[in-house]
Amino acid sequence: MSLQQIVAIKGYIQTTYLAVYPDKLLLLDAGCYSDVEKIISYITETLNRPLDQLKLVMVTHMHPDHAGGAKRLQQLTGCQIATAAHYKPWYNGVTGKLSHLNDLMLTYYVANRQGKHLTYLWYNPKMKADLYVHDGDTIPNFDDWQVLSTAGHTDRDISLWHKETRQVYVADLILKIKAKFVSPFLITLPYVYRESVTKIRDLQPDTVILAHGGFEKLVKEDYNEIIAKAPQKPRKMTILHSIGIMRSQLSFGRKRAQTP
Ligand SMILES: [Zn+2]
Repeated sequence: MSLQQIVAIKGYIQTTYLAVYPDKLLLLDAGCYSDVEKIISYITETLNRPLDQLKLVMVTHMHPDHAGGAKRLQQLTGCQIATAAHYKPWYNGVTGKLSHLNDLMLTYYVANRQGKHLTYLWYNPKMKADLYVHDGDTIPNFDDWQVLSTAGHTDRDISLWHKETRQVYVADLILKIKAKFVSPFLITLPYVYRESVTKIRDLQPDTVILAHGGFEKLVKEDYNEIIAKAPQKPRKMTILHSIGIMRSQLSFGRKRAQTP
C-alpha cells in the first residue's frame, strides 16, 4: 500500500518525520530521548493507530537528536532499528565515549540557545541495530524508499529517498538557518560532504526534508553555494568551541551596544 503522507513532529531541538501508510509507519530518525512520549502520543492520539504499526526507525546518524530515542521507542513499540553499515561501532573507544558526552552537551547548548528547558537526554551510545543498510538498498518493509549514503557531517550519514513523490530526507546534510540553506557546523569529512550535497543536487528532488528546517524546495544555486562555502578541512564542534563562539558574540554585542 502506498505512502499517504509524511508528517513532521517537532522535537526538542530538531524535527522528526513519520511516513504514514494505511497499515504501517516508518519513522525517519528517532529524535531525542525526551521526544519519545511525543512521538508515541502522535501515533496513538493524533493518528489513532496502534503502536505496533510502527515497524521501523531509520537512524541516519548517531547524534542525540537523531538516535537518542531509538532504543526507548523499540522497547515501547517493538519496532526495528536500522542504520548505516560501517566498520566501526558508534562512538567507538574512549574518544568515542568523550564525543558522545560532547554531543549531549552540544544538544543542551543548542536547546539553551533556543530557550528550551533542560530535559533528560541520556541514551546508550553502544546501540545495536536490527538492520544495517548500504548505499542503494531499499528500506526493508518499505521498498518505495531507497537509502543513499550522504556522509560528511559524520562518517556515516544516510539520506532517505522516496522516488515516487520525489522527496528526500537528508537529516543534517543541509540546515536552514535564518531562511538560508547552510552546511552543518560539524563537518567530519569535507570532501565526502561536498560529494554528498552534489549527489542530492543531481537527484533533483522536488522536496528536501530537513531535520533542522522543514519541507523545503532548493534550486541548483542553493546546493552550489553550500558546496562552495563548505570547509576544506574538517570542522569540529566541541562544547568549548560553542562557549567560545557564544562569548565572542556576547562581547561583540556589548561593543556594538556601546558604539554610538
Ligand atoms: Zn548531526
